[in-house]
Amino acid sequence: MEFGFHFPTKIRFGRGAVQNNGAALRLGERAFIVTGKHSGRASGALADVIAALTHQKIECSVFEGIGNNPDVEQCRAVGAQARAFHADFIIGIGGGSPLDAAKAVAVFAANDIPAEQLFTNSYESGVLPIVAVPTTSGTGSEATPWSVMTWHTVKTKRSFGSLQTYPCLALLDPTYTDSLPLAITRSTAMDAFTHCFESVISVKASPLTDALSFHALERFGKLMPQLELGDVASLRDELMLISLLGGVAISHTGTTLMHSIAYPLTYFHGTPHGLANAFVLPMYLKELAAYRPERLATALGALGMSQAELAAYVQRNCPIDFTPDRTMFPLWAEQTAAQGGARNTGTPVDASHFEELYAEIFQ
Ligand code: NAP
Ligand code: FE
Repeated sequence: MEFGFHFPTKIRFGRGAVQNNGAALRLGERAFIVTGKHSGRASGALADVIAALTHQKIECSVFEGIGNNPDVEQCRAVGAQARAFHADFIIGIGGGSPLDAAKAVAVFAANDIPAEQLFTNSYESGVLPIVAVPTTSGTGSEATPWSVMTWHTVKTKRSFGSLQTYPCLALLDPTYTDSLPLAITRSTAMDAFTHCFESVISVKASPLTDALSFHALERFGKLMPQLELGDVASLRDELMLISLLGGVAISHTGTTLMHSIAYPLTYFHGTPHGLANAFVLPMYLKELAAYRPERLATALGALGMSQAELAAYVQRNCPIDFTPDRTMFPLWAEQTAAQGGARNTGTPVDASHFEELYAEIFQ
């Protein structure tokens, strides 16, 4: 047996996490805040962070306009703004989109480089420290080095991430998710769930990541009926914890085929990320049953569901509302083959196979 584990993020979890940990924000004299158009304000997190910075006598500037599925060129422009502000560190507030954007901004603020160089994970002038304050319970981005960018040059989403892009501090307060509409609560919860599930499947899984993801799947299995009913008010703490556990797990295992094959649904049709993953899940389960049956059985065992029950759950709860242009499948298949996630799965990785899978998903 051989594995490693290195996790550099300081985590503070609980209601009042920002108010109670203001001193942890003393990472410099000038902070640049990156948030979404509404999420920072709607959640209350932006006001809490500004109050904590003011109390610590830290100057701040706020960019409140990160779009969903953030665009690499926008992050480059915001990085230039942070550089002009002479930011010492970057604070991301929001769902996965602003948190991922904060990581890119932290790279571009320190390095005036072309967009494509972001994906090399090698930056001459390092990366500014990153603080993450999540307002959704889904991506686990606060606990991963990964950042998923929309990159129009290659017409898809592309990730970057290395030890340098882990947040140094993550402040998780479930209160910030009280303002999340039910549909986003559900789709982000499915993202958190898929991270835990895929972490078990990944060929990079280790006993340590299994400890995290098995435990998270057990907890998720117990709340699935209540999530389906839409009775989510009492699930906020639990969902944020599961999202965090999934994030720490995928920070080591990466995601797998389910994420890779779902990206075109988001890029070309705007399907929310968690919903896109859930929609392709029944196909993914069949693929695992054929090529990774033991790991599939382990993941389903932790969740406490059969393959048929899980497929039926997502079919009931995660519909999509478009019919794809089938002539796009060869391109989608090529893109899937280029994603690292496909290779993490232990299933076939050739583009022609993925083309067949897309035909099966949308039959
Ligand atoms: P999101 O795109 O960050 O947010 C979805 C929507 O929810 C936005 O309209 C957002 O508003 C709104 N919102 C967020 N928090 C809210 C709150 N507390 N109250 C009311 N509205 C709120 O969604 P996400 O699912 O969290 O993140 C998705 C992104 O993360 C994708 O780009 C995905 O590829 C990426 N991802 C990253 C990782 C990773 O490891 N880094 C893993 C999985 C996925 P605003 O418009 O104001 O933002
Ligand atoms: Fe995800």
